Amino acid sequence: MIKNISVSQITDAVYEAYDLFKDNSTGENARYIPYLANIPSDLFAISVCLPSGRLINVGNTDYVFGIESVSKVPTAILVMMQHGTKELLAKIGADATGLPFDSILAMLLEKEHPGTPLVNAGAISACSLVKPIGDEAGKWNSIVNHLTDLCGSSPHLIDELYRSESDTNYNNRAISWLLQVYNRIYDDPMMSLDLYTRQCSLGVTNEQMAIMSTTIAEGGRNPITGKQIFPKEFTPQIISLIASVGFYQKTGDWIFSSGIPAKSGVGGGIIGIMPGVFGIASFSPALDKAGNSVKAQLALQHVMKKLNLNIFHPTRAIVIE
Ligand code: GLU
Repeated sequence: MIKNISVSQITDAVYEAYDLFKDNSTGENARYIPYLANIPSDLFAISVCLPSGRLINVGNTDYVFGIESVSKVPTAILVMMQHGTKELLAKIGADATGLPFDSILAMLLEKEHPGTPLVNAGAISACSLVKPIGDEAGKWNSIVNHLTDLCGSSPHLIDELYRSESDTNYNNRAISWLLQVYNRIYDDPMMSLDLYTRQCSLGVTNEQMAIMSTTIAEGGRNPITGKQIFPKEFTPQIISLIASVGFYQKTGDWIFSSGIPAKSGVGGGIIGIMPGVFGIASFSPALDKAGNSVKAQLALQHVMKKLNLNIFHPTRAIVIE
């Protein structure tokens, strides 16, 4: 059965979620990266991008924040495009670790591969696999150009965040050297870690995140530029990665309670993908204990519930404009 949803139903659900949760002060900013600790905790944004490119925005949707772990998704897509899905599976894997994003234990338990490109180990390994374009800054250019294509406009490096993260990323350095020990990194470990740290420090707006979500939900077609960014055939693999590990050790609880594959970052951003229907993003810096934004989770859950949408529901939905 196909269900029709109107733009005004989506708009109402988004505004209602904003009003319901804007004053919620639960959780706290990520403290282990000094820059993130100092972002105003009450910032809050919700954006939905429809397949036509129409945007529904409320709150601080043009505030530039650190993309952090949400950057793992575009780089995983880039590696699929450059090496194919079989190679991604063989060299990195697609298994949820069931452990926190920066777990060393996860690496010791599963020495065969880092598990998935959506945890730190797999994401650093993915950065090592990125093929450069142009000169020596080529790998970085590849990552930034690809993210620009997905969002339809360029992200900008937040220098202060990059320095703050580079000065404190001891755990990620350990992960990178362990990848070397287990032959699971495919270029220089410290250079790959630097690429990863820089991609996490890219500044994006919530609106850009929603457009990226819709590009994925639409099988690689950017709803704003109309450009096909990745082959449509990759879409199920991309969304399956997000569905299986987007919230780290809390992914099962998340998908059970929300019905939408989503990826979070410690900068406070979450992207949600409703395949063939829309992309949604929400941002608010205060996090729960697992590192996922409290208000952004509430916002996505509310919109999905209000519209009676769920990726596992037998009814499919079409947005009528
Ligand atoms: N740059 C962060 C880290 O490596 C990203 C973590 C996250 O957003 O989950 O710790």
